[in-house]
Amino acid sequence: MTDAETTWLSPDTVQLRQPKSSHWEAPFLFLLFGRERALLIDTGATGDEQIFPLRRTVDALIDTWLRRNPAVFTRPYPLVVAHSHAHRDHIAGDALLAGRPGTTVVGTTPAQVIAFFGFRAWPDETVEFDLGRRIIDVIGGPGHEPSAVAYFDRETGILFTGDTVLPGHLYVRDRAQYVATIERLLRFRDTPTAPLRELRGAHVEMSATPGVVYPPGTIDQPDELPLALPPRILDRVRSALDDLHEAPGERVVRKRFVVVNE
Ligand SMILES: [Zn+2]
Repeated sequence: MTDAETTWLSPDTVQLRQPKSSHWEAPFLFLLFGRERALLIDTGATGDEQIFPLRRTVDALIDTWLRRNPAVFTRPYPLVVAHSHAHRDHIAGDALLAGRPGTTVVGTTPAQVIAFFGFRAWPDETVEFDLGRRIIDVIGGPGHEPSAVAYFDRETGILFTGDTVLPGHLYVRDRAQYVATIERLLRFRDTPTAPLRELRGAHVEMSATPGVVYPPGTIDQPDELPLALPPRILDRVRSALDDLHEAPGERVVRKRFVVVNE
């Protein structure tokens, strides 16, 4: 068993990474605390608590935050488990949290995501999800996967982009939808609900050498890029998509990401 690598990005925001030793995908998860509930974005690549102790980690982080915030006294303190998208390496840990007191695990089909967040004009609408004095903007994001969304946290200025924008492979399943999603994120970036500071996706696969990506299955990434990307990366992704044509497997290599036609 290997514990999650946890980083407090702010007093109310935790970044968790499933260690490479437990699964080569090593996805990032995020736990955001509000006065009324917490939001966990993604549950990792493993449904086995012995391999990756998600339940124990989340319980301990929530206990820590509640101790630091004694004015929050709802018990059980509600936890909403939602996802960046429905690929296996982001939802496999759902079962570990499903029976947890006070916990809601959001379904992973587009219809379930649309219904839970209350989208009426999917995917072009941005909806608000309130954690209690902390609003998260939920932005429709299909293209990599049909039920993908991005989450913008006004408190930290972080846009959580799942597998849609990250330092690594950007797998394009539906090019038209992917382009529309990047253009939606660009519009949001340029008229944000709060200053947009950085993007954080769900994997790091790029090395520090521009354009050099670690191949799928890599366990050891000694000089990987940091996860956070600047807002201008969205312009780079949009222009790279223009260079992508129709050939399956086609790749467009940029300094900090590689677009792959699936
Ligand atoms: Zn994915």
